Amino acid sequence: MNNKKNSIEETRILEKTLESLEVRRQSPKGVYILLLLLYFAAAMTVSLTAGSQKEMIIGHTPVPIYTFAGTFSSFSNLCIIFLVIFCGKLGFITSVIIMTFHIPMILMGILVRKNYTSFPGLLIDILTLIAVIVIYSNIKKREEYQLRMREQATTDPLTKIPNGFAGTELLNKLIRQNIPFAAVTIDINDFKSINDTMGFDMGNKVLVCIATRMKEIADKSLSGTLDFVSRINGDEFSLVVRNYRSEEDVLNTIRKYEAAITEKINIDGYVFFLNASFGYSFFPTDSSERDSLINSSVAAMKEVKRINTGEHILRFASEMKAKDHLAIDNRVREALENDTVFFNLQPQYDMSHKLRGFEVLARMRDEDSSLISPADFIPAAERLGLIDALDLSVYKKAASFFGEILKRTDADIILSINVSVKHMMKSDYIEEIRTLLSENDIPAEKLEIEVTESILIESAEKASRILNELKDMGIRIAIDDFGTGYSSLSYLNSFPSDTLKIDKSFIDKMCENATSEKYVEAIISLAHVMDFEVVAEGVEENEQLEILQSIGCDYIQGFIWGRPLDPKDAENMI
Ligand code: C2E
Ligand code: CA
Ligand code: CA
Repeated sequence: MNNKKNSIEETRILEKTLESLEVRRQSPKGVYILLLLLYFAAAMTVSLTAGSQKEMIIGHTPVPIYTFAGTFSSFSNLCIIFLVIFCGKLGFITSVIIMTFHIPMILMGILVRKNYTSFPGLLIDILTLIAVIVIYSNIKKREEYQLRMREQATTDPLTKIPNGFAGTELLNKLIRQNIPFAAVTIDINDFKSINDTMGFDMGNKVLVCIATRMKEIADKSLSGTLDFVSRINGDEFSLVVRNYRSEEDVLNTIRKYEAAITEKINIDGYVFFLNASFGYSFFPTDSSERDSLINSSVAAMKEVKRINTGEHILRFASEMKAKDHLAIDNRVREALENDTVFFNLQPQYDMSHKLRGFEVLARMRDEDSSLISPADFIPAAERLGLIDALDLSVYKKAASFFGEILKRTDADIILSINVSVKHMMKSDYIEEIRTLLSENDIPAEKLEIEVTESILIESAEKASRILNELKDMGIRIAIDDFGTGYSSLSYLNSFPSDTLKIDKSFIDKMCENATSEKYVEAIISLAHVMDFEVVAEGVEENEQLEILQSIGCDYIQGFIWGRPLDPKDAENMI
C-alpha cells in the first residue's frame, strides 16, 4: 500500500519535472502577424514623422513632430526583438530579413544624401540585429538542453527505447483525451535463467535485441495498429495499442510482438529461444484509471504464467486480482500459523571488504516450495494486519541466531532488521525490541533498525518519538531505500538516524551517465556533512564498486560481494 502510494507520488513528481522540461511552445500565428503589423506601422510612422517640420502643442510647449521619430523607431526595434522571443525560428528569420533590408537602406541614405541625422538610427539597428542573433542562439541552446533532458528522462538507458515513465505519461495523455487503447504488459519467461547462467552482460544484450525488434514493429507500424513500446524494468515491457477496430486486432498486434520475441536470437555465437507472457486490459472498458489499468494487465500477465498452458496472451478479468490476493493471503496465514517464515542474511561490507554486519530478509515458500518474493508477501501481510506478527517471527529467529554468534565469536558486526510502518506504530514496539535484546543478550548498539522514508513522512511526529526512544536505548537507525521517496536529506536529518541506505535504482543509474554519478556523490557528501554513514544498496558490478570507492561511500550491500545467505552459510562466513 505504502509502496504503491510512494510510486504514484514519485510519478507525480516526475510529471512535474517533465512539465518544467516541456520544450517552449511557439506562440500562435496571430502573435506573429500582430507583431509584424505593429512593426510596419511603427516603421511607417518613423518615416512620416522624421521629415515633418510641424509642431505639436503638449501642455503649453510646442514640440517638433520629428522628435517622435526616435520613439517609434525604438518601438519598431522592440517589435523585432519580440518577434524572436515569441515566434521562434519564423520570428528570427523575419527579423533578420527586415534588418538586412533596413540597415543598407539607412546606410545608403547616409552615404548618398549625406544625411548624418540617421546615424544613431543605424547604430541602434545594428545593435538590434546583434541582440536578435544573441537572443535566438540562447533560446536555441536552451531548447536543445531541454530536449536532451527530456529525452534522458524518458529513455531507457540500456535499450534506448522509451522507459516506463514515458509509457505512463502516454497513458495519462490518452486517458485525459478519452482515446480508447489497450494496455499490454509483457514479461519475458524464464529470463532470469539467462542472467544466472550467462551473466548480466549477455542478459542485457538479449534485452537490447528484444527491445530493438519490438521498437521496429512499433516505429514502422508493422502490426497495423498504432503502438508504443516501453521498458518498465528488468525483463518487463509495456505496449500501448491504439487505432484498432476490434479486440481481434489487438490480439493480432500482440501476436506480432510475440513472434518478434520468439524468433531465434543469436548473440556472440550463442543462440536463444525465448517466449513471453502477455496480459492486457482496455481503456475505458476494463477501467478508466491509469494505475488500475496497469495493475489489471499485470494481473492478467501473472495469470498467464500461473495457468502455464500453451497460450501466452490473456485479457484481464476481474476475478484475477481477487484470486491473486487470495492465494498469497492464504500463504501468509499458513506460514504464520505453521511458523515456517524464515530469514536470510545479506552481508554488508566496508569498502575494503571488511564485514560490517548483515541485513535480515524475510523468506516464505509457496506450495510448490518455490520462494515467494517479499515484494508480494510483505504487502499481503500489511493488508491482512499480520505484518507485526511476521516481523516479530523473523526478529526472534534472527536475534536468537545473532545472540549465539556474539556469544561464540568475537565478531564485531551488527544486525539490521526491517520494520513496516504499521508495525512500528504499534504501542508495544519499543517493548518488543527491548525484550528481543535482553532475551538474546544483544548489546543495543549492535542492532540497527531500517525504516523507510514513508514512515517518517506519514507519521512524522509519532515516528520521531519512537525513533528517539530507540536511539536513547543505543539502537542504530538506518533510513532505507533513500531516493525512492521524495523527502530531502535535510528533512531526514531531523530524525535521529545514523545510516543512510541509497536505493539500488540510483546505484544502477550511476554507470550510465556522469550526472547520476555526480548525484550519488552529492548525496554521499551531504550525508557525511549530516553525520550519516552511507550504505550503497544493490551493488552488482565492478564499475559501480570502483565509482563508490572513489566518491567516498562507506559501505556496500549487493550481489557483487554477497547475496542473501542461509544462516548456516552466514555463520561459516563469520
Ligand atoms: P530492502 O530492505 O531494500 O532489502 C534489500 C533488497 O534488495 C532485498 O530484496 C535484497 O535481496 C535485494 N538486493 C540486495 N542486493 C541486491 C543486488 O545486488 N541486486 C539485486 N537485484 N537485488 C539486491 P528482498 O529480500 O526481495 O526484499 C525486498 C524487500 O522486502 C526489502 O527491501 C524490505 O523492504 C522488505 N522486507 C524484507 N524482509 C522484511 C522483514 O522482515 N520485514 C519487513 N517489514 N520488510 C521486509
Ligand atoms: Ca532494508
Ligand atoms: Ca533498501
